Amino acid sequence: MIVVAIDGPAGAGKSTIAKALALKLGLRYLDTGAMYRAVTFAAINAKINLTDQDLVADLTRRSEMVLTNDAVFINGLDATTAIRGVQVTSAVSAVAMNSQVRTELRERQRQWVTDHKGGVVEGRDIGSVVFPDATLKVYLTASPLVRAQRRVAQSGGNVDEIAQGIAARDAQDSSRSDSPLVQTSDAAIIDTSDRSIEDVVSQLLKLVLAKS
Ligand code: C5P
Repeated sequence: MIVVAIDGPAGAGKSTIAKALALKLGLRYLDTGAMYRAVTFAAINAKINLTDQDLVADLTRRSEMVLTNDAVFINGLDATTAIRGVQVTSAVSAVAMNSQVRTELRERQRQWVTDHKGGVVEGRDIGSVVFPDATLKVYLTASPLVRAQRRVAQSGGNVDEIAQGIAARDAQDSSRSDSPLVQTSDAAIIDTSDRSIEDVVSQLLKLVLAKS
């Protein structure tokens, strides 16, 4: 079973590269960030205080999530657009610090890979915690300016403001006690700042094929 773990900070190119690699390998793609975002969306909708760890965790365990290549549903609601909005984006790292939420989502991520007989999985803790035995672990990164510019090109906004938001989220994601964003020593570390998507995907394809 082939499992490719792709981790890295916001705007490093994870989703685009993971989707393209999955297509080349004939595997499914899982965006675990979308799962944390979907829980955040559901908690905001339910007017739950996001710092109430037990309530948010309980909601997570009770929630039904469906993720396709281009849509996210939670409890029957199409959350695809809302989970990329400012409200969810600025709150998601706080929800992702909740260990009970992480335990539940991790289990679902492992089950998803079993059900799909492998996959390309992107997130923050995929190579370090969720799939420590992944076929290939990749840590994607890019300069803060390039990352902010990519987000602006995708969804608009002001580069300085977006850069500030990304820096705040990176700091929270890297400093939390439960499964923080880290580079593992066995990951291929790739800076995507000055490289095309095709170039990075073809490098990863070679790395996977060499290991499988
Ligand atoms: O990848 P994306 O930017 O959509 O992820 C949104 C947030 O979800 C991250 O900032 C992080 O707080 C959380 N996350 C996480 N672990 C993952 C994937 C995402 O904590 N595996």
